[in-house]
Amino acid sequence: MTFIYPLSSKAYRLPDGPVAIQFSGGRTSGYMLWHILDAHEGQLPADAHVLFQNTGREMPETLAFVEECADRWNVPITWVEFDREDGFCVVGPGTNRPASTHGEPFEALRDLRGFLPNRVARFCTQELKVRPSKKWMLWAGYPRWTSAIGFRADEKSRVISRRAQKSKERWTCTFPLFEAGVTRRHVATWWAGQPFDLNLPTVSGKTPLGNCDGCFLKSEKARAFLARYYPDRARWWAEMEGRTGGSFHKDITWDQLIAFAEAQSDWVFDAECDALCDADFGGCHD
Ligand code: SF4
Repeated sequence: MTFIYPLSSKAYRLPDGPVAIQFSGGRTSGYMLWHILDAHEGQLPADAHVLFQNTGREMPETLAFVEECADRWNVPITWVEFDREDGFCVVGPGTNRPASTHGEPFEALRDLRGFLPNRVARFCTQELKVRPSKKWMLWAGYPRWTSAIGFRADEKSRVISRRAQKSKERWTCTFPLFEAGVTRRHVATWWAGQPFDLNLPTVSGKTPLGNCDGCFLKSEKARAFLARYYPDRARWWAEMEGRTGGSFHKDITWDQLIAFAEAQSDWVFDAECDALCDADFGGCHD
């Protein structure tokens, strides 16, 4: 198959007015950020802001990648976290508040709600990611804005579904990668030519350790991989279930998954092996 690189596109030019560029800490949103910067001669408009929402369950490699993008591309990236008192707080590089790395915002949200998020009640995206960004934009003085989201051209259904939502929110969405015709393959090829990268493995074009490490939207295989090779990180999810008295999945608890993963041979986790379900369910964007 011939590989066609997307033509340079006006899609990366930001609209007039305030913009929140959503950066999840993955390769796709990193690609989007670089191309937006490129379309603005390396300098974002004063009212365009890059926001990274830290849940406390991102891998250390993700946090290092976010910092490296900011440093290498000379673009400020604001790290926001859920805070029970104020709704959000600003953390990480350039602040006097270290970013959470042990799931503290996630746990604070669980304490507030009293139960665990799951595939049906997925309130963590809203509370840990969407709302802290919104609160930050309001705090920065913007009553309304545009939100730049890194949905790709191969994620048409997500774009259609988002566009169909009758938003009562303060922002409208723009999808530069979708407009530019960028697919997962374009993103991977572009990163392969860069002097740095997200230092997490890619499996079948996906980053199973991206976003929250044990996200319940990830496939059984991705979660079992975490249990097998990062047991300490997997145990955090098991402890959350133990303390709450529930589980993230109706079919299997993290204690069961950890026990299962410990008993398997390494080949079970190979990309080619289909002994474990590898279907994921969308979720927070990479
Ligand atoms: S990555 Fe998963 S667990 Fe984390 S906030 Fe998003 S949906 Fe929730």
